[in-house]
Amino acid sequence: MTHRITLIPGDGIGPEVTKAAQRCVEATGVAIEWEEAIAGSYALKATGELLPKSTLESIKKNKVALKGPIVTPIGKGFRSVNVGIRQALNLYACVRPAKSYPGVKSNYKDIDLVIIRENSEDLYAGIEFEEGLKETKELIQRIEVLSNKQIRPDSGVSIKPISGFASKRIVKFAFEYALKHNRKKVTAVHKANIMKFTDGLFLQSAREVARDYEGRVNFEETIVDNMSMQLVQKPHNYDLLVLPNLYGDIISDLCAGLIGGLGIAPGANIGDGIAVFEAVHGSAPKYSGLNKVNPTAMILSAVLMLDYLNEKKAALKLEDAVKRVIAEGIDVTYDFKANPNDPQAVGTQEMADAVIKKLTKV
Ligand code: NAD
Repeated sequence: MTHRITLIPGDGIGPEVTKAAQRCVEATGVAIEWEEAIAGSYALKATGELLPKSTLESIKKNKVALKGPIVTPIGKGFRSVNVGIRQALNLYACVRPAKSYPGVKSNYKDIDLVIIRENSEDLYAGIEFEEGLKETKELIQRIEVLSNKQIRPDSGVSIKPISGFASKRIVKFAFEYALKHNRKKVTAVHKANIMKFTDGLFLQSAREVARDYEGRVNFEETIVDNMSMQLVQKPHNYDLLVLPNLYGDIISDLCAGLIGGLGIAPGANIGDGIAVFEAVHGSAPKYSGLNKVNPTAMILSAVLMLDYLNEKKAALKLEDAVKRVIAEGIDVTYDFKANPNDPQAVGTQEMADAVIKKLTKV
C-alpha cells in the first residue's frame, strides 16, 4: 500500500533535516507518495500567508505529515505557526519519547521515557491581552471586582484555560499509549497545590481516568517542580509522564537534555485519526543552510511516523540503523563528537547517507 504523506520542510534548518529524514524513509522501501506543502517564512514570501490554507487542507486530506521546524519570533509578529497547526487540526496530544542511544554524549545511560503533553489549551491557548490596551485595562478591572485581588495596571495578561474534557482526553490517551507500548506507569505532573482550579482540575481528571486502568497500568502524581528535580536525580524511576501544555513543553526539553540534547529528540502531534511528526528542536536559524546540524531527531520522528502508519518492521529497521551509526561514532555530526570542532564530523546529509547505507546492508 502506498501512503500519501504531506511533507512540510519548514524554515531555518528545517529543509535540511526533513530532506535527510525523507531520504531515510524512502530507503526503508515503504511506498510513500510525498505531497510537499509550505509553511513559515518561505510560505509568507510565496503566498503572503504563514500557514496557507492549502497546507492545512493537504494534512487534513492525507491525515499524516512530516514537518520541519518553523521559526517563531519572540514577543512580536506572528503567533507560532507550529501552535497554529496543532490547534487548527486538533492535534491534542504531543508525544515525545526520550531514549538513550549508546554513543551519545550524556551524563545518563539507559533513559527510556515518554512525555505526553496536552497540546490544545493551558497558557498556549493564545488568549493574551497586551499591556496598555483598552481591553486589557477593562479585563484587569473586571478581574479585580470578581476576585478581590489587585493586578498592576501596567500588566499584560495571559489566560490559562484547563478543562476537564481536554484533561481527561489527554490522560486517557496517555493510558492507552501505555497499554499499546507496554509502559508500566503513568505519572501525572501538575502544580495543583497552587493553581487549584486549573491544575487541580487536570489532576482530578487524571485520578478519575486512572481508575479505569487500575491493575493494568500504575498511576502516580508529582508536582512539576519536584518532578524537575526527580528527573535530574532519578530519571529511571519514571516511565510515561502526562502533563498540561506548558509543563509538557519544558519537561520534554529537560528530558531531551537527559538523552544528549535536542539533536536526537523526536516528537509527534496526534489527534483523532490525524498526526504530524516533527523533531522537538526548533529551526536553529544560525545553522541554516550549512549542512551541519544533526538529522537524528527528524529521522527518529520519521521512525515514529512509520510506526504510526503500522509499518512496524521499517520503523524498527530505521531506528536500528540510526542506533548503529551513532554507536560507531564515525559518520556523525559535530554534536556527537567529543570535540565539536572535530574535522572528522560529517554533515547532515552525509550522516543520513550513513544511515541509508546501514539500512541497505543486511
Ligand atoms: P532551537 O531548537 O532551534 O535551537 C537551540 C539550539 O539547539 C541550537 O542553537 C543548536 O545549538 C541546538 N540544536 C537544535 N537543533 C539541533 C540539531 N538538529 N542538531 C544540532 N544541534 C541542534 O531553539 P531556539 O533557538 O530556541 O529556537 C529557534 C526558533 O525555532 C525559534 O523561532 C523557535 O520559536 C522555533 N521553534 C520551532 C519549533 C517547531 O517548529 N516545532 C520548536 C521549537 C522552537
